[in-house]
This record gives sequence, C-alpha cells and structure tokens, in this order.
Amino acid sequence: MNLHEYQAKRLFAEHGVPIPAGKVARTPTEARDIARELGGHVVVKAQVHTGGRGKAGGVKLAHSANEAEEAAAQILGMDIKGFTVHKVLVDELAPGIEQEIYLAVLIDRAQRLPMIMASAAGGMDIEQVAEEAPEKIILVHINPALGVRGYQATYIADAMDLPRELWRDFYKVVSGLYACFTAKDASLTEINPLVITSQGKLLAVDGKMTIDDNALSRHPNLTELRDLEEEPQSEREARGAGINFIQLDGNIGCMVNGAGLAMASMDIIKLFGGEPANFLDIGGGAKASQVATGLRLILSDPNVEAVLFNIFGGITRGDEVARGIIDALRTIDTNVPMVVRLAGTNAEEGRVILADADMETAVTLSEAAQKAVALAGGAQ
Ligand code: GDP
Ligand code: MN
Repeated sequence: MNLHEYQAKRLFAEHGVPIPAGKVARTPTEARDIARELGGHVVVKAQVHTGGRGKAGGVKLAHSANEAEEAAAQILGMDIKGFTVHKVLVDELAPGIEQEIYLAVLIDRAQRLPMIMASAAGGMDIEQVAEEAPEKIILVHINPALGVRGYQATYIADAMDLPRELWRDFYKVVSGLYACFTAKDASLTEINPLVITSQGKLLAVDGKMTIDDNALSRHPNLTELRDLEEEPQSEREARGAGINFIQLDGNIGCMVNGAGLAMASMDIIKLFGGEPANFLDIGGGAKASQVATGLRLILSDPNVEAVLFNIFGGITRGDEVARGIIDALRTIDTNVPMVVRLAGTNAEEGRVILADADMETAVTLSEAAQKAVALAGGAQ
C-alpha cells in the first residue's frame, strides 16, 4: 500500500523527523485559507501516488494566499502520469534550500536485510543518480537486532560531506526514518529531498512510504490511510471480493485457485509461447460469486483473447467453480473463448455443470495451456 506524501511525512514526524507545517486542501479556496494561516509563503504540491511531480508542474511555490489559491486551481484536476490530482498539500515554504539530500530505508532482498540508501545528489530521481553516478549512492545495511548505530549515521554523513554541525541531527533523522520503517512494517520510507535550509537545519520536504500489504492486519489504523481513489478500479474490486489480482500485459486471462498453482499456470502458458494477461488467485474455498467477479475482472481487460481456468479442487469444489462460471457468463456478454481444466474435489460434477456451456475442456494442465495459447492466436 502506498501512502501520500502528507501521510508519510506525518508518520515520519511521529518518529522525530522534522517536516514543514502544512495541511491538505481539496479546493483552491481551502488552499488559500491554509496558506493564509501559514503566513502566505507556501509550496502547493499535488498528492498523487507517483514521483516526478515537480517536473510535471505539480509542485508550485506561492508567496501569498491568492497565489496559493491560483496554484491549487492549476494543480487540482491535473493528470500526472495517469493519476488525477484530487488533493494538494499546502506546506510552509522551506526558508531557502542550501542542499538537497536523498535518504531512504528499504529492504535489500539479496542480503535479506534493511538498508539505508543515501546520496548528496538528492532532489532528482535516484534511479538516474544510480545510472549516471553510482559512486554517489551510499548503502549501509542495518542489523535488525541492533537498529541504526551512531557510527553508521556518522559514516553516511561523512561520505556525503555533510557539515559536521549537522551530524547529530542527521543521526536523529536516519534513526527516526528507520524507526518509522520498522514500526509500520514498511517496505520503503524515503525522503527526497531532505534539505539543508539556509538556517542550517535539516527538513524533510518530500516523503514517500510503502507499507507491506501482508502486515496491514497488524496496523488497523493505517488501513484508513489507503486512498481508494488512487488504485486501479480492477484491483479495488478484486480486494473487495477477497481475490488476489494483478494486471499483466499478455492476452491470456487466467483464473486459478492458489498462488502457487497460478504461478505454475502462468509459467506453462509461457512455455507454450503464450503471454498471461493477469495473475488471479481466487483463493481456497472460492464461492460462485467470487468466480463471477474474477471472470468479470479478467474480461474487463480488452487485451484478453482467451481465458484459461485451472482449478484444482481441494477446499475449493469443482462444482462451485463451475456454477460461478455459469453465473458469470449469464451476466457477461462475451465471445472470448475459454478453456477449463478441473481436477480434484467434485471435478466430475463440475464438468457435468459445464457440459452445456460453450467452453473447451482439458484434462491436463499442459493440454489446457496449449489450447488457450491456440485460442489466443498462437505462440507470440
Ligand atoms: P517530486 O518531484 O514528486 O519528488 O516532489 P518534491 O516534493 O520532491 O518537490 C520537487 C522539488 O520542489 C524539490 O526537489 C525542491 O527542489 C522543490 N521544493 C519542494 N518543496 C519546497 C520548498 O518548501 N521550498 C522550495 N524552495 N522548494 C521546494
Ligand atoms: Mn521528491
């Protein structure tokens, strides 16, 4: 789950990271009122789940309440990389920026450890820095049992040539960002830029945070931060129905029960030269209504030229799934060809239910995959 900048920065601040005063506005008038409260000198920033807002015109400086209102009017409704802006953050302007630093905590999957990533070349895309000047990126792994040690912060500060008077404050920011990362089960906490102001203070001007979805059950109050407006309609609907759904680029829709079986099905489609259009796990014990929702999700993708059902009946019963398919087909008008492979619990009953439906059946997974690839126009 991605958070907005304003949400991320508030969480950072709870862990002692200095952030500018600011509030969220949904209308230009609200933005004007907030700017007036903050003294007029503000930055108005699009709140969307994507970076590069600055370059896209989604970050504007204002020096009066009226200017802030104008800036908000320009930014609200703007499209940034496919995201429509519904909210702006109105933040007190940093009092002069001397330097922009990049600072993040993330997981190094290869080392299986959290790590700090820092760079004195902040402000711009860190991917670009990594490509053009990798030596400017500093990486430090953190032992989760120990947390961030003072010497590690010192090492980073020194490697970035940070003025010595800021080292203590820098340690507070790094350990606060790390504490926030672990406390909220984040997979990323990022400040870009962390600025040095002309008053010689560190200030987190931007914030980004991703929470591990699998840990959300441990943080009921974070669930409220989910911004439904920002998520693709299909994924929202899937979550509502308890379905695991990820959109992909291919043309063969897949409906499978079980994540492992879903991955195996995608592999075998690729083995026969096809491209899966999605990952969809209807889960164990799927009911007919879930199957219907899943099929609607798959068919809402215009790239889908064939659908493969691979159902292994265990807790999920073949006849339930078959009924779901029939139910779904009653409400969906489609001529996309479909292949079904049912095995396991009540597979036979399922096949009987599907006998009248206009669908191909297959006994083995490889037979089913080959049929689906052929129906979708052959190997790519
Ligand atoms: P991003 O483009 O989506 O990463 O948005 P940022 O929040 O990082 O803003 C982009 C740039 O706007 C920053 O790198 C800063 O240079 C500038 N900026 C953001 N906030 C302020 C501020 O309070 N004062 C000034 N002068 N510049 C700011
Ligand atoms: Mn930024």
